[in-house]
Amino acid sequence: MSTPDGPTLLDGRALAEKIRAKYEPKLEALIESGRRPRLVALRVGEDPATEAYLRGQRRGAEKWGIEYAIETLPASSDEAAVRKALKALNKDRGVTGILLALPLPEGIGARGLQHQIDPAKDVEGVHPENLGNCFYGRYSLLPCTALACMALIESSEIDLQGKNAVVVGHSEIVGKPVALLLLAKDATVTVCHVYTDDLAARTREADVLVVAVGKPDLIRADMVKPGAVVVDVGINAVPDATRKSGTRIVGDVSFDEVAAKAAAITPVPGGVGPVTVAVLMRNTILAAEGMPPLDDPNQLPLFNR
Ligand code: NAD
Repeated sequence: MSTPDGPTLLDGRALAEKIRAKYEPKLEALIESGRRPRLVALRVGEDPATEAYLRGQRRGAEKWGIEYAIETLPASSDEAAVRKALKALNKDRGVTGILLALPLPEGIGARGLQHQIDPAKDVEGVHPENLGNCFYGRYSLLPCTALACMALIESSEIDLQGKNAVVVGHSEIVGKPVALLLLAKDATVTVCHVYTDDLAARTREADVLVVAVGKPDLIRADMVKPGAVVVDVGINAVPDATRKSGTRIVGDVSFDEVAAKAAAITPVPGGVGPVTVAVLMRNTILAAEGMPPLDDPNQLPLFNR
């Protein structure tokens, strides 16, 4: 795993490319049979925070050869209008994958709307049927970032059975599903969050540490066990006067000092982000194929399909 020169860098761009190559034949078969996957991102208003995310998706879709479209509803839309748009996308046979871009304008609840997406087209794995399947050990469409974390961990070649896995952050899109997936691989899982007492004592126990919080430098070297596998999900813009933009992107982990102790670590950028986009494309292909739930956790993160 680690090299004499330092930790293994878990390169997300290289892994994303591997995933693309793996799914290319499935995509070609779909296209040949006249069923090219079509992914539609529905957004309400034009929140700038969503822009970069959707741009990344579009670039990913273009690279993979998947049709991608953004449907934008006016920022003044109410919940009923969003429901109606989702219903139309559910019904449209030409649309094989649907995602609802967040954040939504104030006053519109995301959860109720995510539940309106046809589970068979739910490429972000946010519908309760898909998440519920995972709870019961059946694996269908699952949240992309959580699967991306699992793919990166798998690429470190660590055997998770019986290992201590610590997840910092308990959001519905990352922390909670990652915890379930790590459990499915028989790790001993601890989930930490903003109210966790003595975070460092828990993270120091981690053979595998997944951090998804959104706070730069939350994880310092003295909080990490020597030889740990560290996955940094955080995306934070911090001031940087040397850049034209005035900012640069960092994760939640103090990279240089933690890298000196870890066996393997993801960079930010270039770690979880590109793999998340690749998993979204992979989910879109499986949705277009009509993926049935799997019962074998050893196929997690499902790249065997
Ligand atoms: P969220 O904002 O929904 O939740 C944050 C979590 O961090 C909560 O569980 C909270 O309890 C916990 N937390 C806050 N302060 C903490 C502290 N001091 N100690 C321990 N826990 C603390 O988070 P999210 O939507 O999962 O996103 C987390 C980060 O991951 C953000 O930076 C986000 O931009 C990034 N993200 C990246 C990707 C990607 O593809 N790379 C995808 C999703 C999210």
